[in-house]
Amino acid sequence: MKKICILSLILLTVNSLFIMSQEKITQTAGHVQLGEFAPKFAELNDDVLFGQVWNRPGLSPHDRSMITIATLIGKGIIDSSLTHHLQFAKQNGVTRTEISEMLTHIAFYAGWPNAWGAFRLAKDVWAEDATADNGKAAFQREMIFPIGEPNTAYAQYFIGNSYLAPISTEQVAFSNVTFEPGCRNNWHIHHATKGGGQMLVCVAGRGWYQEEGKPAVEMLPGDVIHIPANVKHWHGAAADSWFAHLAFGIPGENTSNEWLEPVTDEEYGRLK
Ligand code: MN
Repeated sequence: MKKICILSLILLTVNSLFIMSQEKITQTAGHVQLGEFAPKFAELNDDVLFGQVWNRPGLSPHDRSMITIATLIGKGIIDSSLTHHLQFAKQNGVTRTEISEMLTHIAFYAGWPNAWGAFRLAKDVWAEDATADNGKAAFQREMIFPIGEPNTAYAQYFIGNSYLAPISTEQVAFSNVTFEPGCRNNWHIHHATKGGGQMLVCVAGRGWYQEEGKPAVEMLPGDVIHIPANVKHWHGAAADSWFAHLAFGIPGENTSNEWLEPVTDEEYGRLK
């Protein structure tokens, strides 16, 4: 049990570390555009504002982007500099849903025409996210557990995008793992010398579980899968459906995970 708690703690830490330690923000626009004309302004813009203030701990780049956008719109600045900051916000993880909610909220404080102007620019910046975001939002509506954050810590062992939401970190720790359509994890083994293994509980959508040498098993909401320790397997979404399962690591002795080769398009494509 202790091992599971520590594992979740590590997972949580890895997650928050990722959020807190995004790449250092660098800016060269000042030097490029005004370096000769106004070297001091360029330096203050690139080195102090972006180099220092934007990189300060205490507020994430995501939150700083939201604040900056709110301020610009509040001042009626609906021009190319707002477009730049909208693009920067997207890069800092501001989602289509967040910007849409934000501009709706701001409209009441900054003025209706300002919000209209900002919406016109934001719609273009987040245009290509529409389909993916809508699918994800619709899936969230049919599931009582949260989708959580992009599963960045394990992304290297997945094909496609997955999301992780720790649900319990006490007594029995478990997480909700969400897979976009077509997403699956690599073949892997939960090793243990005693006990161990993993239990999955499907909570929404449709997916697959497969043990090496056996046919894949369809997973629908309510289905429970008991994965013994030391058995090579994979789990993931169906090609045409989002999928989410709760994942319980079963306590055991000398537990470790071994990640192996991806499930090829050929073997995955045979599943119907
Ligand atoms: Mn597994």
